[in-house]
Amino acid sequence: MSEGNFCTIFNCMDGRVQEKAFLWAKDNFNIDFADTLTLPGMDKQLAENTPESDYVTETMAKISTEGHGSRIAIVVGHTSCAGNPVTDTEHEKDIQKATDRIASLNIFDVVVGVFISGDEDPKNWEVREVCRK
Ligand SMILES: [Zn+2]
Repeated sequence: MSEGNFCTIFNCMDGRVQEKAFLWAKDNFNIDFADTLTLPGMDKQLAENTPESDYVTETMAKISTEGHGSRIAIVVGHTSCAGNPVTDTEHEKDIQKATDRIASLNIFDVVVGVFISGDEDPKNWEVREVCRK
């Protein structure tokens, strides 16, 4: 087991949101490190059970739980997403479905869905919790 407390973040590949998700995880849970698993439009990929998302759930997530002892999952969607170009309302639906899917793996103690959004300047975007399982 690695030293330190890990969480697992299921995030978009978009470079505008990874630091914000990590800092939110640090502020809200007792974690030192985040294993960040990324795909373009991760919320949609998990919600729609794409083949790419199967690798994330079946292989990557288990490396994080079994190798690093992660018990906390954060599922991220964000506004202005090139990989999932839908309305913020649709993102929230995808985040809820994606969170349900990660919770159904039964490998985490808590699974939180968050949405990252704000004005046209991504530096001002904020993280908001959408759901928790
Ligand atoms: Zn994105």
